[in-house]
Amino acid sequence: MRVLLYGAGGKVGAVLAPALQAAGHQVVGVGSGDDIDPSGHEAAVDFTRPDAVRGNVERCLEAGVPCVVGTTGLGPSDLASFDELARARAVPCFVAPNFALGAVLMMRFAAEAAQHMPRAEIVELHDEAKVDAPSGTAKATAQALPGEVPIHSVRLPGLVAHQEVLFGGRGQLLTIRHDTHSREAFVPGVLLALERLTTLPPGLTVGLDTLVS
Ligand code: NAP
Repeated sequence: MRVLLYGAGGKVGAVLAPALQAAGHQVVGVGSGDDIDPSGHEAAVDFTRPDAVRGNVERCLEAGVPCVVGTTGLGPSDLASFDELARARAVPCFVAPNFALGAVLMMRFAAEAAQHMPRAEIVELHDEAKVDAPSGTAKATAQALPGEVPIHSVRLPGLVAHQEVLFGGRGQLLTIRHDTHSREAFVPGVLLALERLTTLPPGLTVGLDTLVS
């Protein structure tokens, strides 16, 4: 596929660009300040910043380019706008707060555990450079659990992306933990999303979970 990669120079983008090329995609990297017409590209991938992603994705969708979005910090109005534009142009827009397969499984296991141990809290830990808090994964996990689940955010150097879901019961504690040690962890999920993109319905699809049976 001819893929526009927004944020190609970033920490995730720098890992994704060669991996997408190795998988056979033609990649055009887009950095902040670049003004590229998305028309004619078969897909756009965005790993940029919360204040940049909406403009990038809206421009691509308006040009009829399907999108795969990894940038976090998106709110309900951003998602509603993507859905409306994507439906209007009859193209898919896929958004995932976490492209790591292990994180998808963590969320599934947490939802199952909550059926038996409903008292839960989430601790998410990320590199200090992460702008948004709580993380998109923590918010998605909390939404998948019953009741109001408190989220604790840690931002420190030396971390990549980590999350614990703690379930407390009388005399016992269950911890479900996922650790991302390297940004390579996000590559298979992005490749899967690109592979499935043309099979998705027009409009917004959220979560890698929807692609992993
Ligand atoms: P990063 O290192 O700060 O990289 C962001 C990149 O985006 C930078 O190269 C930046 O360029 C570029 N950029 C900023 N505005 C842009 C624009 N308007 N158009 C094109 N490029 C632009 O951040 P990161 O660690 O790679 O993470 C990127 C995003 O992905 C964050 O929101 C992070 O939370 C999210 N993320 C998601 C997942 C997932 O699985 N969904 C996994 C990891 C990270 P300049 O430096 O020139 O500004």
